[in-house]
Amino acid sequence: MDKYCIYDYSKAHLEDLLALLGEKKFRATQIYEAIYKENKTNLNDITTLSKASREYLSDIFYFNNLNIKDIKKSSDGTIKFLFELEDKNLIETVLMVHDYGYSVCVTTEVGCNMGCKFCASGELKKIRNLSTSEIVLQVLEVNRYLVKENKKVSHVVVMGIGEPFDNYDNVMEALLILNDNKGLEIGSRHITVSTCGLVPKIMDFSDFPLQVNLAISLHFATDEKRTKYMPINKKYNLEELIEAIKYYYNKTNRRVTFEYILLDNINDSTSDAYDLIKLLKGLNCYVNLIPYNETNGIFKRTKEERRDAFFDILLKNGIQAVVRREFGHDIDAACGQLRAKAIKKME
Ligand code: SAH
Repeated sequence: MDKYCIYDYSKAHLEDLLALLGEKKFRATQIYEAIYKENKTNLNDITTLSKASREYLSDIFYFNNLNIKDIKKSSDGTIKFLFELEDKNLIETVLMVHDYGYSVCVTTEVGCNMGCKFCASGELKKIRNLSTSEIVLQVLEVNRYLVKENKKVSHVVVMGIGEPFDNYDNVMEALLILNDNKGLEIGSRHITVSTCGLVPKIMDFSDFPLQVNLAISLHFATDEKRTKYMPINKKYNLEELIEAIKYYYNKTNRRVTFEYILLDNINDSTSDAYDLIKLLKGLNCYVNLIPYNETNGIFKRTKEERRDAFFDILLKNGIQAVVRREFGHDIDAACGQLRAKAIKKME
Protein backbone atom coordinates (compact mmCIF):
# COMPACT_ATOMS: atom_id res chain seq x y z
CA MET A 1 0.00 0.00 0.00
CA ASP A 2 1.21 3.51 -0.79
CA LYS A 3 1.72 5.49 2.36
CA TYR A 4 0.09 8.88 2.91
CA CYS A 5 2.37 11.88 3.22
CA ILE A 6 1.66 13.55 6.54
CA TYR A 7 2.35 17.10 5.29
CA ASP A 8 -0.25 16.79 2.51
CA TYR A 9 -3.29 17.29 4.72
CA SER A 10 -5.01 20.31 6.12
CA LYS A 11 -6.22 19.62 9.64
CA ALA A 12 -9.82 19.12 8.53
CA HIS A 13 -8.74 16.60 5.89
CA LEU A 14 -6.44 14.82 8.34
CA GLU A 15 -9.37 14.54 10.75
CA ASP A 16 -11.48 12.97 8.00
CA LEU A 17 -8.73 10.56 7.09
CA LEU A 18 -8.13 9.55 10.71
CA ALA A 19 -11.86 8.97 11.15
CA LEU A 20 -11.80 6.65 8.12
CA LEU A 21 -8.88 4.82 9.70
CA GLY A 22 -10.87 4.32 12.88
CA GLU A 23 -8.87 6.84 14.89
CA LYS A 24 -10.25 9.71 16.97
CA LYS A 25 -10.43 13.08 15.22
CA PHE A 26 -8.55 14.92 17.99
CA ARG A 27 -5.46 12.94 17.07
CA ALA A 28 -5.13 15.34 14.13
CA THR A 29 -4.45 18.21 16.53
CA GLN A 30 -1.94 16.13 18.47
CA ILE A 31 -0.14 15.23 15.24
CA TYR A 32 -0.22 18.84 14.01
CA GLU A 33 1.27 20.21 17.21
CA ALA A 34 4.03 17.61 17.15
CA ILE A 35 5.02 18.00 13.50
CA TYR A 36 4.55 21.73 12.99
CA LYS A 37 5.26 23.16 16.45
CA GLU A 38 7.77 20.68 17.81
CA ASN A 39 9.21 19.68 14.45
CA LYS A 40 8.93 15.95 15.11
CA THR A 41 9.61 13.84 12.04
CA ASN A 42 8.62 10.43 13.31
CA LEU A 43 5.18 9.42 14.53
CA ASN A 44 6.77 7.07 17.04
CA ASP A 45 8.19 10.16 18.80
CA ILE A 46 4.74 11.68 19.36
CA THR A 47 4.17 10.63 22.92
CA THR A 48 0.75 12.27 23.19
CA LEU A 49 -0.49 9.44 20.94
CA SER A 50 -1.13 6.05 22.48
CA LYS A 51 1.48 3.42 21.70
CA ALA A 52 -1.01 1.46 19.62
CA SER A 53 -1.93 4.55 17.55
CA ARG A 54 1.72 5.41 17.03
CA GLU A 55 2.48 1.98 15.67
CA TYR A 56 -0.64 1.78 13.54
CA LEU A 57 -0.26 5.29 12.06
CA SER A 58 3.48 4.81 11.39
CA ASP A 59 2.55 2.10 8.93
CA ILE A 60 0.15 4.41 7.14
CA PHE A 61 1.88 7.81 7.07
CA TYR A 62 5.34 8.86 6.01
CA PHE A 63 7.35 12.08 6.29
CA ASN A 64 8.96 13.48 3.16
CA ASN A 65 11.60 16.18 3.19
CA LEU A 66 13.45 18.61 0.96
CA ASN A 67 17.14 18.14 0.48
CA ILE A 68 19.10 21.43 0.69
CA LYS A 69 21.41 21.48 -2.36
CA ASP A 70 22.63 25.04 -2.07
CA ILE A 71 22.20 28.12 0.09
CA LYS A 72 23.16 31.58 -1.12
CA LYS A 73 23.27 34.59 1.17
CA SER A 74 22.95 38.15 -0.04
CA SER A 75 24.57 41.15 1.58
CA ASP A 76 21.06 42.47 2.34
CA GLY A 77 20.17 39.37 4.40
CA THR A 78 18.16 37.58 1.68
CA ILE A 79 18.81 33.85 1.60
CA LYS A 80 18.07 31.67 -1.38
CA PHE A 81 17.58 27.93 -0.92
CA LEU A 82 17.94 25.45 -3.74
CA PHE A 83 16.02 22.32 -2.76
CA GLU A 84 16.07 18.89 -4.33
CA LEU A 85 12.78 16.98 -4.35
CA GLU A 86 12.49 13.22 -3.91
CA ASP A 87 12.38 12.75 -7.70
CA LYS A 88 15.58 14.88 -8.00
CA ASN A 89 13.82 17.91 -9.48
CA LEU A 90 15.14 21.22 -8.15
CA ILE A 91 13.13 24.15 -6.78
CA GLU A 92 13.97 27.51 -5.24
CA THR A 93 12.73 29.24 -2.13
CA VAL A 94 13.76 32.73 -1.03
CA LEU A 95 13.83 34.10 2.51
CA MET A 96 13.64 37.89 2.81
CA VAL A 97 14.36 39.89 5.94
CA HIS A 98 12.06 42.85 6.54
CA ASP A 99 11.79 45.20 9.49
CA TYR A 100 8.36 43.62 10.12
CA GLY A 101 9.52 39.98 10.00
CA TYR A 102 10.72 37.09 7.88
CA SER A 103 9.02 36.44 4.61
CA VAL A 104 9.37 33.37 2.41
CA CYS A 105 8.74 33.30 -1.33
CA VAL A 106 7.54 29.80 -2.24
CA THR A 107 7.56 27.89 -5.50
CA THR A 108 4.43 26.04 -6.62
CA GLU A 109 5.47 24.07 -9.71
CA VAL A 110 8.55 22.50 -11.27
CA GLY A 111 8.86 24.84 -14.26
CA CYS A 112 6.02 27.01 -15.53
CA ASN A 113 3.77 26.97 -18.59
CA MET A 114 2.70 30.60 -18.59
CA GLY A 115 5.50 31.66 -20.94
CA CYS A 116 5.80 35.33 -19.89
CA LYS A 117 8.57 36.63 -22.11
CA PHE A 118 10.47 38.56 -19.44
CA CYS A 119 10.49 35.79 -16.79
CA ALA A 120 13.32 33.28 -16.32
CA SER A 121 10.98 30.69 -14.76
CA GLY A 122 9.24 30.03 -18.05
CA GLU A 123 12.47 28.92 -19.72
CA LEU A 124 11.67 25.52 -18.34
CA LYS A 125 8.21 24.23 -19.26
CA LYS A 126 6.17 22.81 -16.43
CA ILE A 127 7.28 19.30 -15.47
CA ARG A 128 4.76 18.81 -12.72
CA ASN A 129 2.80 20.43 -9.92
CA LEU A 130 4.34 20.54 -6.49
CA SER A 131 2.38 18.52 -3.96
CA THR A 132 0.87 20.27 -0.96
CA SER A 133 3.63 18.84 1.21
CA GLU A 134 6.38 20.16 -1.07
CA ILE A 135 4.91 23.65 -0.75
CA VAL A 136 4.49 23.42 3.03
CA LEU A 137 7.97 21.93 3.48
CA GLN A 138 9.59 24.98 1.89
CA VAL A 139 8.33 27.08 4.81
CA LEU A 140 9.01 24.34 7.33
CA GLU A 141 12.61 23.94 6.12
CA VAL A 142 13.21 27.69 6.34
CA ASN A 143 11.76 27.64 9.87
CA ARG A 144 14.15 24.81 10.74
CA TYR A 145 16.96 26.99 9.47
CA LEU A 146 15.75 30.05 11.42
CA VAL A 147 15.06 28.23 14.65
CA LYS A 148 18.79 28.08 15.36
CA GLU A 149 18.62 31.87 15.71
CA ASN A 150 15.32 31.75 17.61
CA LYS A 151 13.45 33.21 14.65
CA LYS A 152 10.41 32.14 12.66
CA VAL A 153 8.80 32.80 9.29
CA SER A 154 6.04 35.40 9.69
CA HIS A 155 4.98 36.05 6.08
CA VAL A 156 4.59 33.96 2.94
CA VAL A 157 4.39 35.19 -0.64
CA VAL A 158 3.36 32.66 -3.26
CA MET A 159 5.46 34.28 -5.96
CA GLY A 160 8.22 31.79 -6.67
CA ILE A 161 8.48 29.62 -9.76
CA GLY A 162 5.16 28.46 -11.20
CA GLU A 163 1.63 29.73 -11.51
CA PRO A 164 -0.18 29.01 -8.23
CA PHE A 165 -3.60 29.03 -9.87
CA ASP A 166 -2.40 26.37 -12.34
CA ASN A 167 -1.91 24.13 -9.28
CA TYR A 168 -4.92 25.46 -7.43
CA ASP A 169 -5.98 22.59 -5.16
CA ASN A 170 -2.53 21.78 -3.80
CA VAL A 171 -1.74 25.45 -3.21
CA MET A 172 -5.03 26.07 -1.37
CA GLU A 173 -4.50 23.02 0.83
CA ALA A 174 -0.98 24.28 1.61
CA LEU A 175 -2.35 27.72 2.56
CA LEU A 176 -4.71 26.09 5.08
CA ILE A 177 -1.76 24.30 6.70
CA LEU A 178 0.43 27.41 6.72
CA ASN A 179 -2.35 29.42 8.35
CA ASP A 180 -3.61 26.82 10.88
CA ASN A 181 -3.02 27.91 14.46
CA LYS A 182 -1.94 24.36 15.26
CA GLY A 183 0.14 24.34 12.07
CA LEU A 184 2.64 26.95 10.95
CA GLU A 185 0.44 29.76 12.24
CA ILE A 186 1.07 32.36 9.57
CA GLY A 187 -1.67 34.99 9.69
CA SER A 188 -3.85 34.98 6.56
CA ARG A 189 -3.21 38.71 6.13
CA HIS A 190 0.48 37.82 6.04
CA ILE A 191 0.03 35.52 3.06
CA THR A 192 -0.11 36.76 -0.54
CA VAL A 193 -0.85 34.71 -3.64
CA SER A 194 0.23 36.10 -7.00
CA THR A 195 -1.29 35.10 -10.33
CA CYS A 196 -0.73 36.18 -13.92
CA GLY A 197 -4.52 36.12 -14.36
CA LEU A 198 -6.25 32.73 -14.57
CA VAL A 199 -9.75 34.21 -14.51
CA PRO A 200 -11.81 31.13 -13.49
CA LYS A 201 -9.49 30.53 -10.55
CA ILE A 202 -9.75 34.15 -9.44
CA MET A 203 -13.50 33.50 -9.25
CA ASP A 204 -12.93 30.31 -7.24
CA PHE A 205 -10.48 32.11 -4.98
CA SER A 206 -13.23 34.61 -4.12
CA ASP A 207 -14.87 31.81 -2.11
CA PHE A 208 -11.70 30.55 -0.44
CA PRO A 209 -12.31 30.71 3.31
CA LEU A 210 -9.06 32.44 4.36
CA GLN A 211 -8.48 36.20 4.18
CA VAL A 212 -5.36 35.77 2.04
CA ASN A 213 -4.12 38.68 -0.11
CA LEU A 214 -4.34 38.51 -3.88
CA ALA A 215 -1.77 40.06 -6.24
CA ILE A 216 -2.16 40.22 -10.00
CA SER A 217 0.87 40.28 -12.28
CA LEU A 218 -0.48 42.87 -14.66
CA HIS A 219 2.65 44.51 -16.16
CA PHE A 220 0.82 45.86 -19.25
CA ALA A 221 -2.32 47.96 -19.42
CA THR A 222 -3.50 47.34 -22.99
CA ASP A 223 -4.44 44.02 -24.58
CA GLU A 224 -2.12 44.69 -27.48
CA LYS A 225 0.96 44.92 -25.26
CA ARG A 226 -0.06 42.34 -22.70
CA THR A 227 -0.77 39.72 -25.33
CA LYS A 228 2.63 40.34 -26.87
CA TYR A 229 4.52 39.56 -23.66
CA MET A 230 2.11 37.42 -21.63
CA PRO A 231 0.40 34.57 -23.54
CA ILE A 232 -2.22 34.17 -20.80
CA ASN A 233 -3.78 37.40 -22.07
CA LYS A 234 -4.85 35.61 -25.25
CA LYS A 235 -6.96 33.31 -23.13
CA TYR A 236 -8.29 35.87 -20.66
CA ASN A 237 -8.07 39.47 -21.82
CA LEU A 238 -7.93 42.58 -19.68
CA GLU A 239 -11.67 43.14 -19.70
CA GLU A 240 -12.28 39.61 -18.37
CA LEU A 241 -9.47 40.00 -15.85
CA ILE A 242 -10.85 43.27 -14.49
CA GLU A 243 -14.36 41.79 -14.32
CA ALA A 244 -12.99 38.85 -12.28
CA ILE A 245 -11.21 41.25 -9.93
CA LYS A 246 -14.41 43.25 -9.42
CA TYR A 247 -16.21 40.00 -8.63
CA TYR A 248 -13.45 39.08 -6.16
CA TYR A 249 -13.66 42.51 -4.53
CA ASN A 250 -17.45 42.39 -4.23
CA LYS A 251 -17.25 39.00 -2.54
CA THR A 252 -14.29 39.58 -0.24
CA ASN A 253 -13.99 43.34 0.20
CA ARG A 254 -10.25 42.91 -0.06
CA ARG A 255 -8.07 45.32 -1.98
CA VAL A 256 -6.10 43.77 -4.82
CA THR A 257 -2.44 44.53 -5.55
CA PHE A 258 -1.33 44.94 -9.15
CA GLU A 259 2.27 44.13 -9.90
CA TYR A 260 3.85 46.13 -12.65
CA ILE A 261 7.46 45.41 -13.64
CA LEU A 262 8.96 48.50 -15.22
CA LEU A 263 10.68 47.48 -18.47
CA ASP A 264 12.78 50.09 -20.18
CA ASN A 265 11.02 51.57 -23.21
CA ILE A 266 8.44 48.82 -23.25
CA ASN A 267 5.80 49.69 -20.66
CA ASP A 268 7.23 52.73 -18.84
CA SER A 269 6.26 55.76 -20.96
CA THR A 270 3.87 58.55 -19.99
CA SER A 271 1.21 57.07 -22.23
CA ASP A 272 1.70 53.64 -20.59
CA ALA A 273 1.07 55.34 -17.23
CA TYR A 274 -2.16 56.87 -18.56
CA ASP A 275 -3.27 53.52 -19.99
CA LEU A 276 -2.77 52.04 -16.54
CA ILE A 277 -4.73 54.83 -14.87
CA LYS A 278 -7.59 54.34 -17.32
CA LEU A 279 -7.65 50.60 -16.68
CA LEU A 280 -7.59 50.85 -12.89
CA LYS A 281 -9.79 53.92 -12.35
CA GLY A 282 -12.42 53.24 -9.73
CA LEU A 283 -10.94 49.95 -8.52
CA ASN A 284 -9.93 49.62 -4.89
CA CYS A 285 -6.35 48.59 -5.50
CA TYR A 286 -2.75 49.61 -5.38
CA VAL A 287 0.13 49.22 -7.77
CA ASN A 288 3.48 47.71 -6.90
CA LEU A 289 6.11 49.05 -9.29
CA ILE A 290 8.80 46.38 -9.55
CA PRO A 291 12.40 47.00 -10.63
CA TYR A 292 13.17 44.43 -13.31
CA ASN A 293 15.88 41.87 -12.59
CA GLU A 294 17.69 41.59 -15.88
CA THR A 295 17.78 37.89 -16.65
CA ASN A 296 18.20 37.27 -20.35
CA GLY A 297 19.71 40.39 -21.90
CA ILE A 298 16.60 41.25 -23.90
CA PHE A 299 14.71 43.40 -21.40
CA LYS A 300 16.31 46.24 -19.46
CA ARG A 301 15.18 47.82 -16.24
CA THR A 302 13.73 51.32 -16.26
CA LYS A 303 16.12 53.99 -15.01
CA GLU A 304 15.24 55.62 -11.69
CA GLU A 305 14.30 58.99 -13.14
CA ARG A 306 11.84 57.49 -15.60
CA ARG A 307 10.47 55.21 -12.88
CA ASP A 308 9.89 58.19 -10.57
CA ALA A 309 8.11 60.07 -13.35
CA PHE A 310 5.82 57.06 -13.94
CA PHE A 311 5.15 56.80 -10.22
CA ASP A 312 4.29 60.52 -9.96
CA ILE A 313 1.76 60.32 -12.77
CA LEU A 314 -0.02 57.46 -11.02
CA LEU A 315 -0.14 59.30 -7.70
CA LYS A 316 -1.33 62.57 -9.25
CA ASN A 317 -4.17 60.66 -10.86
CA GLY A 318 -5.34 59.00 -7.69
CA ILE A 319 -3.75 55.58 -8.16
CA GLN A 320 -1.96 54.39 -5.04
CA ALA A 321 1.46 53.00 -5.82
CA VAL A 322 4.71 51.92 -4.20
CA VAL A 323 8.10 51.11 -5.65
CA ARG A 324 9.05 47.65 -4.47
CA ARG A 325 12.30 47.28 -2.58
CA GLU A 326 14.73 44.90 -4.17
CA PHE A 327 16.04 41.78 -2.50
CA GLY A 328 19.07 39.65 -3.12
CA HIS A 329 20.20 41.40 -6.27
CA ASP A 330 23.70 39.92 -5.82
CA ILE A 331 22.49 36.30 -5.54
CA ASP A 332 20.19 35.97 -8.57
CA ALA A 333 17.07 36.17 -6.44
CA ALA A 334 14.71 36.72 -9.38
CA CYS A 335 12.40 33.87 -10.28
CA GLY A 336 14.14 30.85 -11.69
CA GLN A 337 17.62 32.30 -11.88
CA LEU A 338 19.43 30.15 -9.32
CA ARG A 339 17.75 27.01 -10.51
CA ALA A 340 18.61 27.78 -14.13
CA LYS A 341 22.26 28.27 -13.17
CA ALA A 342 22.40 25.08 -11.12
CA ILE A 343 21.03 23.09 -14.05
CA LYS A 344 23.52 24.65 -16.48
CA LYS A 345 26.33 23.75 -14.10
CA MET A 346 25.20 20.13 -13.96
CA GLU A 347 24.89 19.78 -17.72
N1 SAH B 1 2.97 33.02 -11.82
C1 SAH B 1 2.71 33.93 -10.75
C2 SAH B 1 3.73 33.90 -9.63
C3 SAH B 1 5.19 33.79 -9.98
S1 SAH B 1 6.00 35.17 -10.70
C4 SAH B 1 2.56 35.33 -11.30
O1 SAH B 1 2.73 35.54 -12.49
O2 SAH B 1 2.21 36.21 -10.54
C5 SAH B 1 6.11 36.36 -9.42
C6 SAH B 1 6.29 37.78 -9.92
O3 SAH B 1 7.64 38.03 -10.36
C7 SAH B 1 5.39 38.10 -11.10
O4 SAH B 1 4.82 39.37 -10.95
C8 SAH B 1 6.40 38.07 -12.24
O5 SAH B 1 5.89 38.74 -13.34
C9 SAH B 1 7.61 38.70 -11.59
N2 SAH B 1 8.87 38.50 -12.32
C10 SAH B 1 9.20 37.52 -13.17
N3 SAH B 1 10.44 37.70 -13.66
C11 SAH B 1 10.93 38.82 -13.09
C12 SAH B 1 12.17 39.52 -13.18
N4 SAH B 1 13.15 39.09 -13.95
N5 SAH B 1 12.31 40.66 -12.46
C13 SAH B 1 11.32 41.08 -11.64
N6 SAH B 1 10.15 40.45 -11.50
C14 SAH B 1 9.95 39.33 -12.23
